[in-house]
Amino acid sequence: MFVVSAPSGAGKSSLCRELIDSLPNLRQSISFATRNKREGEQDGVDYHFIRPEAFQSMIEQQQLAEWAEVHGNLYGTSLNTLTDAADAGIDLLLDIDCQGAAQLINNHQQGVFVFILPPDYAELEKRLRERGTDSEDVIQRRMKNAAQEISQAHWYDYLVVNDNFESARESLVAIITAERCRGRRTMHLLEKFNAKGEI
Ligand code: 5GP
Repeated sequence: MFVVSAPSGAGKSSLCRELIDSLPNLRQSISFATRNKREGEQDGVDYHFIRPEAFQSMIEQQQLAEWAEVHGNLYGTSLNTLTDAADAGIDLLLDIDCQGAAQLINNHQQGVFVFILPPDYAELEKRLRERGTDSEDVIQRRMKNAAQEISQAHWYDYLVVNDNFESARESLVAIITAERCRGRRTMHLLEKFNAKGEI
């Protein structure tokens, strides 16, 4: 499980898409969300879009591995999403906020936690303005939220600065590749050498 968080405008979505397209055996985790579908989004592809009452019932039935309220809407990852991927032997990429990432850690879910940083606040604000999708007060709210998110970045396993898309992509690929080679994940490779447990 690779968990990626970032303030909005740091380029997280494009980087995650690029990773899914270029790395084998990596699947995007599709979250449940109560917000309205944006133009071009598809139910079951971008999110499972559900009503707040249905979300509430998932919370009550303990079907969520983590959930949080972000910008006034509810978002969560179902336990089924995690177990299905584990059963299929596929790594999951979770694009979730800091509150959700903290819950996964507190619930002792094994994962690699990556935080994507913008180069600085000025550049983040510039990117949010260049998107042209948000009003001034939304931009100011996103900037405030960004400071709040960045204040949590220190407990992530990796920090990646997205000053240049290609080098940020390379860093993320390197992180995933290295984590996949970790001894505790690759011990089974030793079995055919009868070397398991020997020094
Ligand atoms: P958006 O509405 O722009 O797609 O996403 C808004 C924020 O919600 C993003 O920061 C994204 O990381 C976060 N988010 C999306 N899905 C989940 C989820 O399942 N859990 C949590 N905790 N946050 C999520």
